[in-house]
Amino acid sequence: DGGGSEEVTPPDDASLKDIGGLGEVLKELKELIAIPLKRPDLLAKLGLEPTRGVLLVGPPGTGKTLTARALAEELGVNYIALVGPEVISKYYGEAEQRLRGIFDKAAKNAPCIVFIDEIDSLAPDRSKVEGEVEKRLVAQLLSLMDGFAQTKGVIVLAATNRPDHLDPALRRPGRFDREVQFRVPDRNGRKEILQILTRSMPLDDSVSLDAIADSAVGFVGSDLKAVCQKAAYSALRRQVPSLESIIPDTMTVNQSDFLQALKEVKPAVLRSVEVES
Ligand code: ATP
Repeated sequence: DGGGSEEVTPPDDASLKDIGGLGEVLKELKELIAIPLKRPDLLAKLGLEPTRGVLLVGPPGTGKTLTARALAEELGVNYIALVGPEVISKYYGEAEQRLRGIFDKAAKNAPCIVFIDEIDSLAPDRSKVEGEVEKRLVAQLLSLMDGFAQTKGVIVLAATNRPDHLDPALRRPGRFDREVQFRVPDRNGRKEILQILTRSMPLDDSVSLDAIADSAVGFVGSDLKAVCQKAAYSALRRQVPSLESIIPDTMTVNQSDFLQALKEVKPAVLRSVEVES
């Protein structure tokens, strides 16, 4: 059927409780999609057009994928995920059919969230691309979104960090007409994320998540995850210097492990500046 083998069951390993610093964003998104997914009949009674597509806009590593998965889990709906560039490269020449297959599958499995990561690669601004294949794919995606007018209980969440590269037609009413911003977390956001990421780490009394959050300016969620992993490895090296060492009864991660890790991890924003310059 061209739909491929994506899982449609809701992910059970992601929860809204695992997402830090995005309180307002999560609330807004949940409100936007809960009724169209679960009670589309209510909207029809009021003559309202249901939301069909929401753009999740923000830099890599800010939790867009995590959020889409957690919302599916929270609302108890099915979930199909695809990554834009993979659809194109793996199924080159068949990408259109492939997209149609995914949308059909979602309709059959409603209520369902379709998550498209890196949508800019599937729907680049047609006035700026050369290839006919690329242009056809954009047109196909638009027509699939329009075809959704009759389909109830399917929402497409699409992530991008380059909204300005998208074909403008994608954002017309009835397509991706809602947009939610995933920003680089502020200090409090970083602290919340750190609290979540260290929940199951044995932290020493010396650890101050406040101080770490203060220092980690510009770090996004995936950067903070890297910091926590590196700190844990540093703690391991410190307490188990060789594979032959006697393993201590209790191992802890201390503040200097975190300070070391902070030096080693470069935040995504700085990395991307380097790439561009
Ligand atoms: P990309 O655009 O690169 O796909 P993304 O915005 O979808 O990035 P995720 O893939 O969701 O980011 O984040 C990567 C990982 O970083 C997550 O699995 C999670 O462990 C951690 N993470 C990112 N953001 C957060 C957050 N706000 N709270 C907790 N953990 C986060």
